[in-house]
Amino acid sequence: MHEWALSDSVAAAALEVKKEQNLKTVDEITVVLGAVQDIAAEAFAEIFDEVKKNYRGIENAKLVIETEPAQFACLKCGNIFGLEREKLDHETGEAIHFLPEMAKLYIKCNKCGSPDFKITQGRGVYIREIKGEN
Ligand SMILES: [Zn+2]
Repeated sequence: MHEWALSDSVAAAALEVKKEQNLKTVDEITVVLGAVQDIAAEAFAEIFDEVKKNYRGIENAKLVIETEPAQFACLKCGNIFGLEREKLDHETGEAIHFLPEMAKLYIKCNKCGSPDFKITQGRGVYIREIKGEN
């Protein structure tokens, strides 16, 4: 379960920021989830609510989840294109969700049709902002 590991690292990182910035409490944590990864936002939010209880000072923090859209760069013609999720059928969307490498089988450059591309955006998971009181 990636969501547990992610929740733990987000909580630990928030605690670090709290220490660094001398915050009394952490009220809000904004996490950005890339569209091309296998983290289920809902499960992550639920698990985080459990995990944060183990971290003193952030146990009341509200988790805000933002999604970063996917973007690809064609290695053949240099075209930059996005993933239009609604154009994928459900099964394909699921396959990509659970195994991002599968994307290569389904997604092709919308200009030259090449399946050789790199993911330039939407792959990472990071903390955008931590709000608290000092
Ligand atoms: Zn291309």
